[in-house]
Order: sequence, then C-alpha cells, then structure tokens
Amino acid sequence: MYHKTCSHCQQKSYSSYSEGHWGCPYCQHDMTYQKAVANSEQPPYIIRYFLSKLHKKLLLKRNSI
Ligand SMILES: [Zn+2]
Repeated sequence: MYHKTCSHCQQKSYSSYSEGHWGCPYCQHDMTYQKAVANSEQPPYIIRYFLSKLHKKLLLKRNSI
C-alpha cells in the first residue's frame, strides 16, 4: 500500500500502486507527480518475535499443569 498527502487539501489517499494517475478523492487535485509513501508492513522479525513469545507461553502453561 502507498499513500500520498494531497498538497491542496492535506487529506491522505491510499492506493496499492504508486504508478499511474493519482487524483485526490477529496478535491480531485492531480497528485500523480507527488511522492508516494510506502506504508511499512510489519517486518517479519516482529511476527517471529511474537510467535516465539506465544510459543514460550504455551510451553510454560503445559509445564505448569
Ligand atoms: Zn485534495
């Protein structure tokens, strides 16, 4: 996902592509040549961290029974 902030009305609009025509959905301002900002998705190591935490919790639970 990418987003651009309209230089005209300051509203954010989102798109899955940074290429092609990009018009502001709020004021119809042409934002095609504005810089698209990539929305950072959760990096994999964060997911791994949570999974390992969850796994440890499950193991602790199993050991305490
Ligand atoms: Zn706008």
